[in-house]
Amino acid sequence: MIIWGFRVVYRALTTGIFYCPEEGGDRPYTLKSSQRFFTLFFIPLIPLKQNANVVECQSCMSKFYETVLQRPTASLLSNAMGEAVRGAAIAVLRSGTLTDAGKQQTILLVSHYITGYDDAMLLHDKSQLDLGPLPTHLGSLSSSLDEHGRELLLHHLVLVAVADKAGVNESERNILLQVGSDLGMTEAHCRGTIDSIVEGSAKA
Ligand SMILES: [Zn+2]
Repeated sequence: MIIWGFRVVYRALTTGIFYCPEEGGDRPYTLKSSQRFFTLFFIPLIPLKQNANVVECQSCMSKFYETVLQRPTASLLSNAMGEAVRGAAIAVLRSGTLTDAGKQQTILLVSHYITGYDDAMLLHDKSQLDLGPLPTHLGSLSSSLDEHGRELLLHHLVLVAVADKAGVNESERNILLQVGSDLGMTEAHCRGTIDSIVEGSAKA
C-alpha cells in the first residue's frame, strides 16, 4: 500500500525577543517559514504553496502570525513611556514659571516611570533635555494606549501645568494640545481634558 499525505515543514529564519500575547511578557521567539509538502510514506516530497511565516514563542511554543512582531516589547514600551512622560513634563515646565509645586508634581509623575528621578535630574532636564525625540516616543505609545490611557497621561501633564497655581497659559496649552495630538487624541478631547482640570483646580 502506498501512503500519501500532507505535512507542513517549518524552517527557522530569524530569532529575537517579542511580546508574547499568550503569556503577557517579553519572550524569545523564532520566526519560521512554513511550507506544505505532499508526502509519500511520510517523507516530504513535493513542495506545495508556501504558507505565511509563523512566529513561535520559545517559552510557551504558541504560534502567531508575523504581525505579532509589530507590537512593541514590554521593555521598549516602558522605556518609551518613561521618556514620553519625562519629555512632555519638561516641555510643560519650560513653558511656564518654575515653582516648587511644579517641580514636586513633575518628580512625583516622572519617578513612577524612571526610577530615582529626583530634583537634580529635573534641573538638568529643564536646561539640557533634548525634546527632539518626544513626538516619536509619544507616537509609539499612541498605538499601545487605549483612549482612557491617553487621557490619563494628558491629565497628569495638565496637573504639572496647573501646579504653579497660575492655571494653564497659552504656551502650556499649546504644548498640551501637541502632546495630545502626538498621542492620537482629537483636539476636542484634549481641550475637554485640559478644561475640566483647569476648572477643577480653580475651584480648589
Ligand atoms: Zn509565549
